[in-house]
Amino acid sequence: MRHTRRLVAGSLAAGALALSLTGCGNSVDPIERLGRKTTEAQQSPTATPSQSATAGAPGDEAYKKWGLSAPLQFAPKPAQKPALAPAVPGKAQVVDRIPVPATDKVVFLTFDDGAEKDPEFLKMAADLKLPISMFLTDNIASSDYGHFEKLRDNGSGSTINNHTLTHPNLRTLPFAAQKKEICGQQEHLEKRFGAKPTRFRPPYGNYNDDTLKAASECGISQVILWRVSMQINNFQYAEGSALKPGDIILAHFRGPSELKGATEIQMTTRMLQRIQEQGYRIGRLEEYL
Ligand SMILES: [Zn+2]
Repeated sequence: MRHTRRLVAGSLAAGALALSLTGCGNSVDPIERLGRKTTEAQQSPTATPSQSATAGAPGDEAYKKWGLSAPLQFAPKPAQKPALAPAVPGKAQVVDRIPVPATDKVVFLTFDDGAEKDPEFLKMAADLKLPISMFLTDNIASSDYGHFEKLRDNGSGSTINNHTLTHPNLRTLPFAAQKKEICGQQEHLEKRFGAKPTRFRPPYGNYNDDTLKAASECGISQVILWRVSMQINNFQYAEGSALKPGDIILAHFRGPSELKGATEIQMTTRMLQRIQEQGYRIGRLEEYL
């Protein structure tokens, strides 16, 4: 179920993540607070890190619990949605990067397939308020769709989207078979989660004109691709060697059997560290589409 089989060399030291048990449940919504903090910091160039960090709120400690050295920065909802390439009638629109201004260092988190269903990951995603756009494949994720429902409903703005029934390479299939893969998962997701998604990701990023027409007939308005994929320790870039503003990051719900022994949490911590090292904020993809 890999989108790519190239894995970055290197291994994680076992137990490298020291987890403290700092409590973080309170009435303050960390994501709202972080969003306002970001805005205030932008509007007040004289603000120092110590001034912009609100002391004493338990939610601020969540980042330490999950192995980060600083709080994540979240992008506020954009005042205007970036202008995408015009949609073609009868075809789903293809989006592989959000065309934000070059100075807007925002990236977006997407997780695919649904193999790993680690309850600890649900705690991490909730604590850190990660907005995750999920692309779920029925025969991989459906053994516990409840796991992904919890992730969707944790208050971080995560969403559930279509990634086919069985994860085929759609380019090898005729139109009718492609439509069955896409519409079939639309029906499963609607039955299980109450609504048909409007966004779809083709397995391996492989699609053709039939895919875009079939997706449109299944009620999909946008096909979401990516330019950066998270491996075990580092990103793999489609071009260049760094994140670019508006990048959509692909990660997977994967566990130790697919990550050379690393856990989903370790992989995600590394990903968030890389985002922080490059000075990026995390946005909610759906707010930009
Ligand atoms: Zn996939």
